[in-house]
Amino acid sequence: MLIKDVFKGIKCPNCGDYHDATLKKCPHCNKDNELYQIRRVPKRVVFLHPFAQIGMFLVGFAYGGMFIAELLTVLFTPSDAFADKVLRSTTLMTIVYVSMFVALLAIALFSGRRKMFLGKFTSGIDYLYGIGYAITVVVVSMLVGAVISIFHESAQNANQANVELSALNYPLLSMATLCLIGPICEEFTYRVGLYSFLRRFNKYFAFVITVIIFAMIHFDFTAENIVNELWSLPSYVVAGFVLTLAYEHRGPACSMTAHVIYNSIAFAMVLIAR
Ligand SMILES: [Zn+2]
Repeated sequence: MLIKDVFKGIKCPNCGDYHDATLKKCPHCNKDNELYQIRRVPKRVVFLHPFAQIGMFLVGFAYGGMFIAELLTVLFTPSDAFADKVLRSTTLMTIVYVSMFVALLAIALFSGRRKMFLGKFTSGIDYLYGIGYAITVVVVSMLVGAVISIFHESAQNANQANVELSALNYPLLSMATLCLIGPICEEFTYRVGLYSFLRRFNKYFAFVITVIIFAMIHFDFTAENIVNELWSLPSYVVAGFVLTLAYEHRGPACSMTAHVIYNSIAFAMVLIAR
């Protein structure tokens, strides 16, 4: 799709009004949008207004950045006792994710396409596919992990270390955040926001950018062991790829289910490993 078409919309041949090319029918006169079939608009992808899509990505991205900045402040405040740091970072994580969730949901519900958005969550089969994609992520990332362990003795990356610290000390709070609210927020930000916006232009372009950014946000640039962080990148690339695939194929209900289950399994493994 052309940039001009994305922001200005396409002209309806029937009533002459401009409307979003991703809409099946003209919202003014209800005539079928001919380009809908020609451009093969993916049926399960959520197409909010382009500005709502960009807004969703920016909100999620800003919250993520804010969280990391605050977390670093907490972790490197010298005066605190260790137990205080864990409590503060867990509380912080919960507050950030809950408020991020409210903001993202508000964009989805109040940007003018509520019915279409909610309609993507009503089909039970999407959730079943989500289970399948979750199993796929687990199996593929284990295979990637096994291949990597041939070349590099695996150590925990910074992200995993933070998760473990919170999970062991505040299991319920961490579980609600890391297994449910967190992954749903990430799906809003990177799939419903970023991917769906870029998807208007080109599928492959959208895939590549989304997977790269998704991997980058799980990468800790301030970690002491950068080499170790680099070795954990492939598993995030794989997870990002499969989740994006799940979204393109069956929409947000599917990718959210997959992400929630995947994180829950990872969380359970942290607890079991102790
Ligand atoms: Zn029309």
